Amino acid sequence: MPKISDYEGIIGAEELAKLKRLAEELRGLSLLHINSAKDGGGVAEMLHSLIPLFNELGLKTRWEAITGTPLFFHTTKSLHNALQGAEVAITPEMLEEYKRVNRQNAERLDLRADLVMVHDPQPAALIEHKRKGKWIWRCHIDLSRPDRGTWALLAQYLERYDAAVFSMEEFTQALPIPQFIVPPSIDPLSDKNRELPPAKIDEVYEKYGINRDKPIILQVSRFDRFKDPLGVIELYRLVRKEIPCRLVLAGGAASDDPEGAEVYQEVLKAAERAPEVYVLDLPPRSDIEINALQRGADVIIQKSLREGFGLTVTEALWKGKPVVATAVGGIKLQVIDGRTGLLANSIPEAADRVKHLLRYPELARELGQAGREHVRKNFLITRHLRDYLRIYSSLVTR
Ligand code: UDP
Repeated sequence: MPKISDYEGIIGAEELAKLKRLAEELRGLSLLHINSAKDGGGVAEMLHSLIPLFNELGLKTRWEAITGTPLFFHTTKSLHNALQGAEVAITPEMLEEYKRVNRQNAERLDLRADLVMVHDPQPAALIEHKRKGKWIWRCHIDLSRPDRGTWALLAQYLERYDAAVFSMEEFTQALPIPQFIVPPSIDPLSDKNRELPPAKIDEVYEKYGINRDKPIILQVSRFDRFKDPLGVIELYRLVRKEIPCRLVLAGGAASDDPEGAEVYQEVLKAAERAPEVYVLDLPPRSDIEINALQRGADVIIQKSLREGFGLTVTEALWKGKPVVATAVGGIKLQVIDGRTGLLANSIPEAADRVKHLLRYPELARELGQAGREHVRKNFLITRHLRDYLRIYSSLVTR
């Protein structure tokens, strides 16, 4: 487990000292993070790294994940999809289950803390059971074009929080509470992101039977329609017409996402019709495997249709990889077109960008290096900790 001092080599002594000073003011306070899954997806990824560091910095920090029924998770996935702009029906029965499961979790969990940070819509209704402390709603999803009715359903809970945090300006909403902007981050010292010896990269590719005799195009994402895996296969077909290559789609399930298995089947079916596509359904905590796949890839794609932030993009940039991505949500903070990667708005455009990078490896290297610096300055966990500490500090009066 990395210690806070281990980050000094990456961010410098001064930045580290600032972080510690800020934490000193909050020493001894209790902090509780609540989300809906300890495995799968970006929120769990970040909390695994943030929680031990908060504790080391002196805040007594716990992490709880709510539990629920299949109908509850079907409901929350529908809420999630609607908030990202999809058309979905949410019935009164679903809403009743949403409230009931939140109520049940409120009875099961110890919600007492000086600061409670509730992540995403799934546990948002826990606010009805607030007893003490300051409650912050942390939104990780792409709220650029939410279904308005669904937003109104959620907003009735959010209004009761003390503050809300969004990943970018574009996602903020009309709410009667203070709103803060905090972009997500990666942990450069985690198994997902730390340096790996070349032999480890080879070993992982061999383990999955993927020959790197041709360039590797990779997308890492949960099997989710917003990540557009079928679009990735389409664009790969266009690239292959001109340049021999292989495609790797690496994904897995999140315990709070009931649609994953269905999307995975759709992807397998589409992959059968395209040669040399490797669809990997990875178990939770395949961090070193994903790290190695990213490091061994020639171009990394993120063809999302909506994206709260896209830690997979951050991970790729940190590894100095050239990225081709769609200009949606939080990806726009990370991929600055022509500087830290290439943006594309359609499948043919994305295919052209990938071909260009495969033809000009020097450009690919330059973009990758600039991407890594962009992440170092803006999207590392130490900056994220600092932003959270500042917000906590503004909310508690001691
Ligand atoms: N991830 C993983 N296994 C998978 C798919 C994704 O560990 O099979 C990780 C990925 O490396 C990243 C996170 O889950 O750290 C996904 O975060 P992102 O913000 O890209 O998307 P989300 O899944 O939260 O929508």
